[in-house]
Amino acid sequence: MGVTNFDEYRDVFVVADTIDDVVHPVTYELIGQARRIAKELGQLVQVMLLGENVQSEAEELVAHGADIVHVFESPLLKYYTTDGYTKVLTDFFEDHKPNILLIGATNNGRDLAPRMSGRMKNGVVADCTILTVDTTEGLVEWTRPALGGNILAEIISPNHRPQMGSVRPNVFKKPDRIADSWGRIQIEPFDLNPEDIRMKRLDFIPFSKDGYNIQEADIIVAGGCGMGSKENFDKLYELADAIGGVVGATRPLVEKGWIELPYQVGQTGKTVSPKLYLAFGISGAIQHVSGISGADTIVAINNDPNAEIFQHANYGIVGDCMEVLNDMLAHLK
Ligand code: FAD
Repeated sequence: MGVTNFDEYRDVFVVADTIDDVVHPVTYELIGQARRIAKELGQLVQVMLLGENVQSEAEELVAHGADIVHVFESPLLKYYTTDGYTKVLTDFFEDHKPNILLIGATNNGRDLAPRMSGRMKNGVVADCTILTVDTTEGLVEWTRPALGGNILAEIISPNHRPQMGSVRPNVFKKPDRIADSWGRIQIEPFDLNPEDIRMKRLDFIPFSKDGYNIQEADIIVAGGCGMGSKENFDKLYELADAIGGVVGATRPLVEKGWIELPYQVGQTGKTVSPKLYLAFGISGAIQHVSGISGADTIVAINNDPNAEIFQHANYGIVGDCMEVLNDMLAHLK
């Protein structure tokens, strides 16, 4: 949007991420951030919710702090499509001009954000991990890792509206439910026809064979190169099974083919926020630890007392990871 009058642009909007009419957790994390930013700017939190049958989900969004949830329902919106979602959202934003627009950096969000930004001619800051606000200028300061995670870039968008960014899942906490929430749900009319959508979903095949989502796990047992061999690494599944967790890994292990990409933790993998993260034989490279900053408790096992991972761990065990793993399994048995 070529913007001349910034005063027309108001409020913090969140685009809800859904898979088959179920709201993705990142949406709640974004509402928490939107609430904080909106409070600082004296504006409202508005959420865009698209799907086929999503009114009960809309109530949950209100219960977590949305002032207004705009609901767009149609069988054509049951599944995410670039064309359908971009059209509905950008048509709406012709009349309802957001000051700030937050999108989850999920698979769908990473597809949607640049497409919307192309239509709105506003630019998008992708994959942010910190959001602050300059209340004097009314500008969001978007922070994101850059240059292989070695620096943090701070980016502002002073000349265009909406100020738009995508935010990685699991970086921010989900806000608590509000007992006396005040928000409202608005069913929105919109114009979308089958011929507006050039793609058709034939099937949905989850990428991961085992089907667990590491981003939702409470306990992650993660291995790195220190595990030494695939055979050793596979023993981590025994521990994970025994304590109700799932297995994750560093990037080199994915590159070796010991585990699939959906289970890679870190900058080019998943950001995770488990209650417990066990790191076996992981050095603690910035590209890895940037993915675990949301973990409540990190326990690191490494035979190098100076390993960087100990700087990020709540508890450290200096020792051979297989010895420690076997001890743990023996105790559990
Ligand atoms: P290493 O760094 O080799 O560490 C192995 C550790 O095991 C060492 O600390 C060693 O002391 C310890 N060890 C060895 N033997 C034992 C033993 N017997 N018992 C106990 N400890 C032992 N990495 C990721 O993980 N995720 C990412 O998303 C990611 N993205 C990247 C993106 C870019 C652009 C780049 C450049 C790199 C990225 N990396 C990523 C790679 C990252 O920089 C590191 O190379 C990687 O995380 C290191 O993996 P590691 O800790 O398994 O191995």
